Amino acid sequence: MEVTIVGAGLVGCLLACFLARRGHRVVLYERRHDPRERGADRGRSINLAISERGIDALRRLGLDGRVLDAALPMAGRMMHSPGGALAFQPYSADRAQAINSISRAELNRELLTAATALHGVEVRFGHRLTGVDERAGRLAFESTAPDGTSGAVTVDKAQVVIGADGAYSAVRARLQQLPGMNFSQDYLDYGYKELSIPARHGEFAMDPGALHIWPRGRSMMIALPNPDRSFTCTLFWPHDTLAALDTPGKIRAYFAEHYQDAFELMPDLVGAFQGNPVGQLVTVRCSPWHVTTEATTIGLVGDAAHAIVPFYGQGANCGFEDCVELDRYLDEAGDDFPRALELFERRKTDTDVIARLALENFVEMRDRVGSRMFLAGKRVEHA
Ligand code: FAD
Repeated sequence: MEVTIVGAGLVGCLLACFLARRGHRVVLYERRHDPRERGADRGRSINLAISERGIDALRRLGLDGRVLDAALPMAGRMMHSPGGALAFQPYSADRAQAINSISRAELNRELLTAATALHGVEVRFGHRLTGVDERAGRLAFESTAPDGTSGAVTVDKAQVVIGADGAYSAVRARLQQLPGMNFSQDYLDYGYKELSIPARHGEFAMDPGALHIWPRGRSMMIALPNPDRSFTCTLFWPHDTLAALDTPGKIRAYFAEHYQDAFELMPDLVGAFQGNPVGQLVTVRCSPWHVTTEATTIGLVGDAAHAIVPFYGQGANCGFEDCVELDRYLDEAGDDFPRALELFERRKTDTDVIARLALENFVEMRDRVGSRMFLAGKRVEHA
């Protein structure tokens, strides 16, 4: 069977590996050019915490070793008080049970390399899906060559189409127009912005074995370590706070007051704050995740099916688990895709729960961890 996957992000690439292992031919269409030939977008490097749910999926394909080699283990969370006091909270009594910091771009490159090394997998970069005709099994793409010239590409007779094109999925946008499709999209009144703590004298400026959190009640900052000994920091702030810091003086004064220890480690604070974009935080719920006509079967996976806010560190992990589950249902259905995608809908109960937990954990991370550790007087200085 030939399977068309729209989106060669994290989940599209991993799913291609699972399907190729089953003997299917897979063509991935990706709107970007090959990210292995370009760097990450400025201010959107995004570090992920990959945990057992995602590692399990990688392990099934023998990809866990190479991914973990590019990652840094974080055995617990390190809370920073406004005055700079530290408190470490291990995730587990067993320090080996860590979550793993990896850049999303690096993980994507690893998975692209793994997918394209497999027999039967092809990636067509510079192809943005612009239209889906489910009655004819036809897909329309706008193609852009690396030199900027563009054209139109049509794919006829696509028998199986999987939308792995992220939270703002074009595949899902078409399914939403069909009768019986339920859809909701909820934005938080918060945005996120990336900053950076560079290496200091060639070394990490803070403990690289922890996920750092500056809980500040209504808002927070987190920082995850990178192999180059820098940290990627992410602010999760109400939009009005982000907008209020509109001069270098206000930015410096705010950080000096609320993030004192980090402020001293951020030489490019003002440039990064003013230059980096504000990202949106959205939860997407929809059902069903698939539609079958006489010409084609179309399904959704990953963020296209269930985008969640990042506070439980589970978006990519859940998308990877989607691949394991779909693979299992293909086993059960004898590679009958319409049937397997129908069975895959059972997973929605689980993804709805993780979406709720992710929202609840925002309050836990930005507020409760801080009040427990600092206000209740249970501060533990980290060695
Ligand atoms: P995406 O990664 O969005 O990939 C979609 C792909 O489809 C992209 O390559 C895109 O270019 C392509 N595409 C889009 N539209 C089209 C089109 N029309 N035609 C062709 N191609 C198209 N998850 C975790 O597990 N742990 C974390 O710690 C974590 N932290 C996060 C922190 C932040 C700040 C954010 C924003 C997210 C975080 N996530 C985390 C979530 C994680 O990034 C997503 O869940 C994951 O990237 C989803 O993978 P995906 O492949 O479904 O979608």
